[in-house]
Amino acid sequence: MLVDAHCHLGDAAFDPDRDAVLARAREAGVGHVVVIGATLAESDRAAALVQAHPGLSATAGVHPHEARHWSAAAAVRLRDLLALPEVVALGETGLDYHYDHSPRDAQRRAFEAQLILAREARKPVVVHAREADDDVAALLRGADTPVVLHSFSSGPGVFEAGMAIAAYFSFSGMITFKSWTMTDALTACPPDRLLVETDGPYLAPVPHRGKRNEPAFVRFVAEAVARSRGEPVESIGQWTTDNARRLFGARLATTL
Ligand SMILES: [Zn+2]
Repeated sequence: MLVDAHCHLGDAAFDPDRDAVLARAREAGVGHVVVIGATLAESDRAAALVQAHPGLSATAGVHPHEARHWSAAAAVRLRDLLALPEVVALGETGLDYHYDHSPRDAQRRAFEAQLILAREARKPVVVHAREADDDVAALLRGADTPVVLHSFSSGPGVFEAGMAIAAYFSFSGMITFKSWTMTDALTACPPDRLLVETDGPYLAPVPHRGKRNEPAFVRFVAEAVARSRGEPVESIGQWTTDNARRLFGARLATTL
């Protein structure tokens, strides 16, 4: 069995055929999907979606792209969502200095506030990090809650900071791209800290690159992890499923 640890299943890209997407996931051996909230609206949608389906769990958070909209009211809304049992983590939050869609100080403020909310809720935090390695590494050192480094593609500074706090490293379809260069992190990640994800509808792995990504494709990610590490794909499936259950809790034992 596989767990897709990060998919934007509430995205409008899945509106036409969400049930068929979930049926294909089940056929591909995907037992559980973590449905990500990257805005307050998407977080509400994720929570509503997973209430109707076993095998789905939600997260609630404000993405760094949206950090300029961070407010006290947003914090209150997230706190309410995090109190729901079907919301298993805060996120995605983090820092993105590649796109800079929000000012960097606003990104840092929203990220720090969400780290505190996650700790108060005793739930893990799903972190998006892009071209902000020094600041991400510094903020991770103060994170007093379990951390997932989602679609891991950062440099050695963030890898080391993650290792120091026993973070989970979630790998996406990026590891199947010709441009992938962070193979050291992929092979050095301890088996009990590995996760696999799609980040659907984005980042579809080879051989579906450029198309809409969906949970069934997490199989290609697991196979690429297995090839890189020289380990059987069955082991990767077992480890990443065990890890997701340990990290996100009992709800992850329900299946699609
Ligand atoms: Zn995402």
